[in-house]
Amino acid sequence: MVIFKKVVDIQSFMLQNRAAGRTVAFIPTMGALHSGHTALVAAAKRDGHMTVASIFVNPTQFNDKADFQKYPTSVDADIAMLTATGCDVLFLPPVDEVYPQGTDSMPVYEFGYLDTVLEGARRPGHFKGVGQVVARLLDIVKPDKLYMGQKDYQQCMVVRNLLQQTGSHAEMIINPTVREADGLAMSSRNRRLTEPQRALAGIIYQCLVSIQAKGQQGGDFKIVQKECEDLLIDKGFKPEYIALADADTLELLDNYDNNRKTVALIAAWLGDIRLIDNMPVNG
Ligand code: AMP
Repeated sequence: MVIFKKVVDIQSFMLQNRAAGRTVAFIPTMGALHSGHTALVAAAKRDGHMTVASIFVNPTQFNDKADFQKYPTSVDADIAMLTATGCDVLFLPPVDEVYPQGTDSMPVYEFGYLDTVLEGARRPGHFKGVGQVVARLLDIVKPDKLYMGQKDYQQCMVVRNLLQQTGSHAEMIINPTVREADGLAMSSRNRRLTEPQRALAGIIYQCLVSIQAKGQQGGDFKIVQKECEDLLIDKGFKPEYIALADADTLELLDNYDNNRKTVALIAAWLGDIRLIDNMPVNG
């Protein structure tokens, strides 16, 4: 695996590879890698692309300063994992390579309704930061494919919208959520869970499974929502939202609707760690 830290260096390398006719898949990450990340690299390789991963903990997408400061890093282990997965290129830039003129002069993208609901409502400025960094990284790497994880469902929708706004030709490929044995969605933040917290964390997945199962009969979602909320609170979580939404628009729904694709989404705090997960309900 070739590692680049400077924009000019990766750009000239990518230019040569594009000239040689290679299709390029890009996998942006914030590091502290786990099997959810390497599954994206492996999928891109299976699809026959040259794989370019990035590790950059983007300061502009953290609405919570403490979350940024505590965000786990493990660059050496990350490099070993990417190498073992057969990743071709790692872009590992310092902040001033990504934002050489600071962030004030960077274009700001608006995501309308998507930025006002669920993650958008709870994390003001987060998706603007995501838009800013993904637009910049796409401009540097100029990939043909962009591999992202369904784990961050709303982020996938935001980035799809960004691709349209920027006129990028990159096609987004969404990979299923990779889970631990008890169903907990893999996340870099999981490594901050204490042992007792980790033992409880799979309950979010259980809630999603029960929301999905009860959706088969249709009816009032609010009842299931309240059951999940009570369970999570009882186990010591602080739920932020337990939602059922249209899978294409994220319009929030009070009732199951078997005539459209829907998705269940949960965000909940366990101690000072915020966990999110989602699951398709039908469609
Ligand atoms: P992050 O490093 O958390 O910004 O994630 C980088 C990419 O990996 C994003 O596209 C995430 O959606 C994806 N990802 C993170 N966790 C998982 C997971 N458990 N399963 C699948 N994809 C994931």
